[in-house]
Amino acid sequence: MTDFPTYPTDPQAVEVQAAADQAVDWALTHGLCMKPALPKATTSAELQQGTGLATHAPFALFPSPFPSDCFQHALTIQPYLNQLFHAIANDHAFLEEHLQHLTHVDDFTARLFRLYLETRPYAKRQPITLAFHRSDYLLHSGSETTETVPQRLALHQVEFNTISVSFSSLGNVVSNLHRYLWDQPTYRHQIQGPASLATRTKDALLPPNDCIQGLPEALGRAWELYGNPQAAILMIVQPGERNIFDQRFIEYALQRDYHVTVLRKTLAEVHDQAAVDPTTYALRIQGHEIAVAYYRSAYSPTDFRTEQDWQARALVEQSKAIKCPNVAYQLAGTKKIQEVLSRAGVLERFVQDPQVRMQIQQCFTGLYPLDQSPEGRQAYQLALAHPERFVMKPQREGGGNNVYGRDIPPVLQSLSEKDQAAYILMDLIQPPELHNVLVHQGKVQRGPVISELGIFGTWLSQGNRVILNKPAGHLLRTKVASSNEGGIAAGFGVIDSPLLI
Ligand code: ADP
Ligand code: MG
Ligand code: MG
Repeated sequence: MTDFPTYPTDPQAVEVQAAADQAVDWALTHGLCMKPALPKATTSAELQQGTGLATHAPFALFPSPFPSDCFQHALTIQPYLNQLFHAIANDHAFLEEHLQHLTHVDDFTARLFRLYLETRPYAKRQPITLAFHRSDYLLHSGSETTETVPQRLALHQVEFNTISVSFSSLGNVVSNLHRYLWDQPTYRHQIQGPASLATRTKDALLPPNDCIQGLPEALGRAWELYGNPQAAILMIVQPGERNIFDQRFIEYALQRDYHVTVLRKTLAEVHDQAAVDPTTYALRIQGHEIAVAYYRSAYSPTDFRTEQDWQARALVEQSKAIKCPNVAYQLAGTKKIQEVLSRAGVLERFVQDPQVRMQIQQCFTGLYPLDQSPEGRQAYQLALAHPERFVMKPQREGGGNNVYGRDIPPVLQSLSEKDQAAYILMDLIQPPELHNVLVHQGKVQRGPVISELGIFGTWLSQGNRVILNKPAGHLLRTKVASSNEGGIAAGFGVIDSPLLI
């Protein structure tokens, strides 16, 4: 491992403030924006007050160092992971074997699984599959460090997201921001060492990112393949979305490059306005036939506020619209499936090439069931004896759902044996703590931080023909080290980009 660079230690220093001011202006000029949090907004009138207001999305002032070999590894395996999750989503016996029993202990997974079973007979109405994934990783140092960086860092997968992955647009804007700042002498001279920074090219250090194009390209090509130039793309969104600009970039790129209409609708609006043609199975909404239904919602129980919301999801699933993703993909992305994949012999079912298997397995960290199997009971005992080594996860997405370290025993002991099976246990990955300067609403803060790398991936296939399978850019999210999770909207995390060392 080469040396890491160091960044200014005094966030109040004049040159740091000046760089932050310069960065904020650049951010606002280039759409690195979010809607402000309106704490009391609950009614639509209150939400309306947020119209016309925006703030810059929180970002790291300096790109966080990331080992080049780990970055390359994550990029290399992305197409294999895309293929793996396509195979899992199409393996009914596998999904049933490993998810059916969860339906007795987890209402949300039960509901999704029921929807999957009910709509499975209609899947043949649309042989085109479109997926947009993000595989997330932390570096594992194996030792607790602050200023000193260990010699060996390994890439460990945190999770694989198959629905509603975000920040593919704003992540790209932050890569561009860091590349802009790099050329500003007053900024650049604040970064000290290592020697390799002076000898390597800007592109080698700050990899150009193209994640802003990946998703519009995949959506656009799926729309073309659907074969009706009059058809529209439907983005199914959450009401009052603060991260709307991340989504607008996608919409505008589709309009610019494919001249396609993009509709934004909540599940409730889909329920009220959409119908499926009984003969052609086309999904129609307000006079538009929908070629692709793309979800930026429907991943959490709170996205389904009423029975009508579930009916809307079912309507889309039964139609011949291309779904991004379909419910089988959503189930393939559960933490349970991630745990099952780490068991001896399971990856062999999907990945024949031993070299590829090894490359994927190198990123796995310890994952354990918490069910009544001998492995599950062993994990239960281990979690009680050494909770600080683990994180406990339910079948949920979107952050804020996990139980960490010493909080695990009371939670585990409060659950019946049956209900424990709704969770999995995972080894706590210990990333190195680095220092960076974070910018929130124009204010700077320096601190020990931890970075999580995400690699986006696009997949498009028609029957057995694979049309698109590639990595589609990257995202670095950085959080203050003292926070277990780094929600960007919640104020603990920022958008960042990697400085490859
Ligand atoms: P979600 O689907 O809600 O994003 P994650 O599995 O990504 O769930 O967990 C949320 C966050 O918790 C991650 O972004 C990471 O910061 C932290 N986390 C998750 N798993 C681990 C782990 N094994 N070791 C350390 N931190 C973890
Ligand atoms: Mg997730
Ligand atoms: Mg996550």
